[in-house]
Amino acid sequence: MVIQMMKLNYDEEENPVLSREEAIAILNTPDEELEELVECAKQLRYKYKGNRVSIHILTNARSGNCSQDCAYCAQSCRSKADIEKYKWVDEEKLYQDNDFVDEYHLSRHCIGLSGMKFTDEEIEELARRIRKMKEKGTHLCCSIGFLTEKQAKMLKEAGLDRINHNLNSSRSYYHNICSTHTFEQRVANIHMLQGLGFEICSGGIVGMGESKEDVVDMLLELREIQPEALPINFLLPIKGTPLGDADVSMLTTEYCMKVLCLARLLVPKSDIRCAAGREVYFKGEEKKLLSVVDSIFASGYLTEGGQGIQGTIKTITDAGFTYEIESA
Ligand code: SF4
Repeated sequence: MVIQMMKLNYDEEENPVLSREEAIAILNTPDEELEELVECAKQLRYKYKGNRVSIHILTNARSGNCSQDCAYCAQSCRSKADIEKYKWVDEEKLYQDNDFVDEYHLSRHCIGLSGMKFTDEEIEELARRIRKMKEKGTHLCCSIGFLTEKQAKMLKEAGLDRINHNLNSSRSYYHNICSTHTFEQRVANIHMLQGLGFEICSGGIVGMGESKEDVVDMLLELREIQPEALPINFLLPIKGTPLGDADVSMLTTEYCMKVLCLARLLVPKSDIRCAAGREVYFKGEEKKLLSVVDSIFASGYLTEGGQGIQGTIKTITDAGFTYEIESA
């Protein structure tokens, strides 16, 4: 077995400290040895997360018309995907979703906004909505582009708990998926937000034509960042985007599982989330999946649908896990 043959180093908390070569070897684990790899990841999952699964729902607060050209995204300036476009979602819908998170005692309400730059006035409008939702005590996360320090402070003062800003891919592959901003800008933005005390949610997308080395390099960068949550999305090609016809044949359940195991081994204390693609690439394998990850979405991957709350809760309880109550 690959991982048992490695003479791994361990840190003071007895977590493995993998080198780049060892991490690559993990992604190359033969499928017949996957069970043993899952077992290693599972031990860390239980060590830090018990048998809890945190559930999030996502509201797309601003949709479409983005100035950026991210190749996977239906909202980008080069996407021809037929999606709903609006500057602000109805406040009623936003607050209803928030009440839903509150009512079901879900872990967090994630709020996505398309775009990379915002005016101070727009940030104040968002801050007003955040203040309103925080009256319920909901734990809130915003997926938002680059903020100025002033804007980030405005959101912090409004009560925003967490910000999602994904690395998406490796430093060296990034230019293949986006030309309108850089990987370095993303890292700098995350460091600025961490400096202001925000929790960070940062992960990536697998299946965009990158190599296994790229996946490893992205995860090693995330190990440096130590985000509170680390979402891994498995590409769901969207027609009308440059990756609409991407070959995702490498995204077997086994390979996707190896990526998640590696994320758990490299960043064991993070909430490792299986985000987009869960319902497609892990169908029928939910129990094994939840033995490695401790976080999933119940609905909405921005422009793609999700499983819905009842289905998600059933998936979790059928697999013998409990869902986490944070915002109660
Ligand atoms: S991922 Fe975000 S920044 Fe990139 S095109 Fe989509 S909405 Fe814009």
